[in-house]
Amino acid sequence: MNVNREVWILAEHREGELEDITFELASAGKRVADKLDGSLSAVIFSEQIADMTNRLASHAISKIFIINDSSLREYTTEAYAETLSRLAQERRPEIILCGVTPFGSDIAYGLAARLETGLITDCVSLDVNDDGLLAGEKTVYNERLQAKIICSSVKPHIATISPGVCDVRLPKPGNKAEVVTLTPEPFSAKRYARITGTVRADLKKIPLDQAEVIVSGGRGIGGPEGFDALEKLAELLGGCVGASLVACDNGWVPEDRHIGQTGLIVSPRLYLAVGISGSIYHAMGMKDSKYIVAINKDRNAPIFRLADLGIVGDWRETVNELTDHLTEIERDS
Ligand SMILES: Cc1cc2nc3c(=O)[nH]c(=O)nc-3n(C[C@H](O)[C@H](O)[C@H](O)COP(=O)(O)OP(=O)(O)OC[C@H]3O[C@@H](n4cnc5c(N)ncnc54)[C@H](O)[C@@H]3O)c2cc1C
Repeated sequence: MNVNREVWILAEHREGELEDITFELASAGKRVADKLDGSLSAVIFSEQIADMTNRLASHAISKIFIINDSSLREYTTEAYAETLSRLAQERRPEIILCGVTPFGSDIAYGLAARLETGLITDCVSLDVNDDGLLAGEKTVYNERLQAKIICSSVKPHIATISPGVCDVRLPKPGNKAEVVTLTPEPFSAKRYARITGTVRADLKKIPLDQAEVIVSGGRGIGGPEGFDALEKLAELLGGCVGASLVACDNGWVPEDRHIGQTGLIVSPRLYLAVGISGSIYHAMGMKDSKYIVAINKDRNAPIFRLADLGIVGDWRETVNELTDHLTEIERDS
């Protein structure tokens, strides 16, 4: 397929609120678009675009394709992947990037199959090689190896990017984007699945290694009651509670919360280490977290060497203050 030097990202939103993955895709997309001397566009399925276009434009997106069709109000893989593949065949982008999310991954597989092109899944970084081919890096064999996969010359190149691996660029509020609203041909082929409802996940049941925010407690918490306070904070942050081995061994939290060399290896966006000294064994399970905040009354605690932000003091004071503040924000929103 002859292509335009356009990189597309599949924007994601929930009830009109853009999801973080959209801005991460925009950052990754902008980098590869610059390498190709091309431009960055976003495709968004929505009937209500409201102020989403301004936010997308502020993240270096110069063109926004809005697919506005009431028959696509209900998500199905077939209808969305087919609509996007028709658009790609017509407009011929060079690269299409989707998030490693239920929505992004689902569409990416269907899209690659329809366009008869390759797909690099679960990338942790992306680049364009000297031949102008998209190259994605991903971890394989249970995170023991890093593989670099280079797309063939068949285009468009498609890749999915894991959440939390791309730094989001600072938005430039004045940027403008061209907005193209499209009403595609109605999708008439058989739909194999129908969404009958959505259920919010119970955060307490999310496996720790999939949580985006972890509030983790150690011996310094002093007992099971202290973990109730951490639970409340975790809930307000949309995360889960984790623990050091000592806290689990003391029976303050269940064993499946144990983080470290002999427990779970986690890498959330935010790891809040509360009353944890930061032993080498614990660090091995959380050091790859994107942003680490430590609260400890001992300013020499090793955890501060790993932390992006350190707070020296009694954990109760900080956790209570944070909880009150977040409760207030939630009440006002
Ligand atoms: C083979 C082996 C494997 C191990 N595997 C693991 C593992 O997988 N995971 C793991 O976590 N550990 C593991 N350990 C145990 C590890 O060595 C440490 O003993 C453990 O991590 C310490 O837990 P902690 O940080 O909760 O407790 P401590 O080291 O006792 O630290 C408690 C911290 O709380 C602070 N504190 C106390 N009161 C307050 C307060 N009011 N406010 C703020 N801060 C306060 C203290 O200053 C201190 O820094 C392993 C050990 C061995 C030998």
